[in-house]
Amino acid sequence: MIAGIAKEIGTSERRVSVTPDSARQIKAAGWDVLLETGAGKGSFYADRAYEEAGATIVPSTADLWSRSDVVLKIQPPLPNRTLNAHEAELIREGGVLICMLRPLSNLDAVKILARRRVTSFSMDMMPRTTRAQRMDALSSMSTIAGYKAVLLASDTLPKIFPMLVTAAGTIAPSRVLVVGAGVAGLQAIATARRLGAVVEAYDVRPAVKEEVQSLGAKFVGPELEESEAQDEQGYAKPLSAEAQRQGMEILQQRVAQADVVITTARVPGLKAPRLISADSVSKMKPGSVIVDLAADMGGNCELTQPGETVVRHDVTIHGPVRLASAVPVHASQMYSRNITAFLLHLTQKGSLHLDWGDAITSGTCVTRDGEIVHAATRHRVEGAATAKA
Ligand code: NAD
Repeated sequence: MIAGIAKEIGTSERRVSVTPDSARQIKAAGWDVLLETGAGKGSFYADRAYEEAGATIVPSTADLWSRSDVVLKIQPPLPNRTLNAHEAELIREGGVLICMLRPLSNLDAVKILARRRVTSFSMDMMPRTTRAQRMDALSSMSTIAGYKAVLLASDTLPKIFPMLVTAAGTIAPSRVLVVGAGVAGLQAIATARRLGAVVEAYDVRPAVKEEVQSLGAKFVGPELEESEAQDEQGYAKPLSAEAQRQGMEILQQRVAQADVVITTARVPGLKAPRLISADSVSKMKPGSVIVDLAADMGGNCELTQPGETVVRHDVTIHGPVRLASAVPVHASQMYSRNITAFLLHLTQKGSLHLDWGDAITSGTCVTRDGEIVHAATRHRVEGAATAKA
């Protein structure tokens, strides 16, 4: 069986799905490994390092995709302008694709994959279970993004983070507000604390209060019942109108006090909740900074422009959509360990063994046997087709 490491073609994407160390591990599990020339260049992994790990370098993109039984990637399949073909068309009919497919946002790619009878797995659909923890790429990328968001903010803020007592007087510490204390938010809290800021965190899930406090930050969320704010999997769920009103009142006050606001709030499968209005931004101190890590899902701030940095009311608003890619070495290393663990989970005696009774295998599968098997994606595709008719 052949596993192919494809070169990422997304804008400003510098990561690679598999590092040389992982390529060696995949090879040891009985796979032949192909690498598209230069796939590791953006993360400073040279072709030679992959060759030393036992991989074969393939100069042609089309060859890499068509020769591989399994194509390993980070980004979902995209149109390849050089080849004038969609990546989902390059994969061998009946082949296997593993990437962060984000199927609900990439219906066109999913439809092509189903038509070509590709078995596709979406790393971002990994169940949040202990058994799947080492395959949890979403947490890996959120960890990197949470860290980098703080550095981006500190670089933009016209102030320093720590309190300083100097001969020139005392400098007050900067105030950082983290909205959404999930994986990215907790990493942002820890990073901002390390830089010496005074940190507050807002979330609707009462379960995060202790975690926030253990990192030395103050929890400023509304006092909600766990069942009001959280589903059985531990994710936030949409709030009642009253709970929303209560939360927004607190949040508006805290935003106005902050020098930096890092927002990470998401509700799975839905647009990101709108938590910071244009009016709230206008009440922030001039020079303040917002980093909106939910920009790819529409943003938590009304003024966020996904993929851009804008200045409104003297507040800089960053809307990064691929922040993990700005730290390509460690982001690739973490993703690579996740995707390799998943590939090896699907491997038995050097061959693919797809056990559809297994929650990890079936829970991440989007298309197989010519069908879209991920129910929410299938419903959206069918809904779009009905609306067109
Ligand atoms: P996420 O990216 O879906 O959301 C980020 C944060 O935004 C969450 O803390 C959420 O509560 C918060 N949020 C949502 N709506 C909000 C609103 N209206 N106002 C304020 N905050 C809002 O979440 P995540 O970081 O992926 O983690 C979600 C949960 O899953 C956490 O409990 C985390 O500990 C858990 N988790 C478990 C595992 C595992 O067991 N393997 C792995 C990773 C995460």
